[in-house]
Amino acid sequence: MSSILKVHLRKTVDDSYNIYIGMNFSNAVKHISSLKLGSKYFIITDRTVKKLYGNQLLKLMYENGLNASLLSIPAGESYKNRQTKEWLENQLLNKKAGRDSVIIGLGGGVVGDISGFVAATLHRGVPFIQIPTSLLAQVDSSIGGKVAVDHPKGKNLIGAFYQPRAVYIDPAILNTLPDQEFYNGMAEVIKYAAIMDKNLFAYLEKKSNIILQRDSQSLLKIIKRCCELKRYVVERDEKETGLRRILNFGHTIGHAIELLMKYKISHGQAIAIGMVAETKISASLGLVEPDAVQCLEYMLRLYHLPTFIPSATNLPALFRLTLQDKKSKAGVVHYTLLEEIGKAKVGVALTEKEALTRYKQ
Ligand code: NAD
Repeated sequence: MSSILKVHLRKTVDDSYNIYIGMNFSNAVKHISSLKLGSKYFIITDRTVKKLYGNQLLKLMYENGLNASLLSIPAGESYKNRQTKEWLENQLLNKKAGRDSVIIGLGGGVVGDISGFVAATLHRGVPFIQIPTSLLAQVDSSIGGKVAVDHPKGKNLIGAFYQPRAVYIDPAILNTLPDQEFYNGMAEVIKYAAIMDKNLFAYLEKKSNIILQRDSQSLLKIIKRCCELKRYVVERDEKETGLRRILNFGHTIGHAIELLMKYKISHGQAIAIGMVAETKISASLGLVEPDAVQCLEYMLRLYHLPTFIPSATNLPALFRLTLQDKKSKAGVVHYTLLEEIGKAKVGVALTEKEALTRYKQ
């Protein structure tokens, strides 16, 4: 006779964590030490960030009596893959990383995503700390617990939700960020303002001069506001089943552009183009006033970001690629579209052909 045994696993989980904005390395290390998360610390970084900040962080950890090591990977999206993850895991196990180990991701979104994924799977999960060093990572990728590596078939196809124990953000670190990387991060900042905060949008327009000079107070203000907005979204929808999709504004067409151009365009540039294209669709549907398109274009140009799909692009091929978007089902693509500057609507369903026609109007 067959039998059924129910395994009772209903649970209440508290994955809350703090984001410390404006905390320098020295204070961050003291704080990490006070958290007592483990007895061995492994800093994962990329080679560029290692030279600039990795050794400095390692030294501070030694000075605070922490047992720390540093592992570095080559910089760039092309290394956010399973081979690099395996290499990191081999290094960690060779260095006897046990369950008492803590992983610290020091770098941009690439390092944050891969080191978080390593932390999620090493010994079925060890504590993870984010120290984001690019603007994109400080305003977006270090918060919310999405960790992943890419696959030849697409970005972030293998990953997990794994929350950090703490995030330490020091905007002063952005002074060494190359201009183009700064502009890429600004594309995400503009996205937050466009979908959720018209006051932030106005601020970005009014203060573009000093923001582009990386004025510390302005950066602090922008980073704090974006972190607040991301917190608002992920607290309500951790696993992207609803509201979190609002963050995909510009990304449906943006990802298709990245795919079509075989990642020879930066993510920030692709989503800048994607935001304008999707707002044209929104205007054609009558969801937003047409002048929103001009407002967005003006803002993106202020921050040295492109605003139009390159003229040689095969548009039908581009819109076909939007079907590969995670949110598309049965030939229908679910867009996040602007309703006004500061407000967006999630889940606007359009076929590839409808979207293309609307875009051209
Ligand atoms: P990145 O990590 O490649 O960093 C960009 C470049 O800047 C790298 O060459 C890096 O070495 C360099 N760099 C970083 N900090 C620096 C500093 N302070 N000074 C000098 N150089 C510095 O790219 P990114 O734009 O930070 O992140 C992009 C990644 O983030 C993508 O893989 C994307 O999928 C991911 N992402 C994840 C989420 C999420 O929620 N997990 C959200 C958005 C993006």
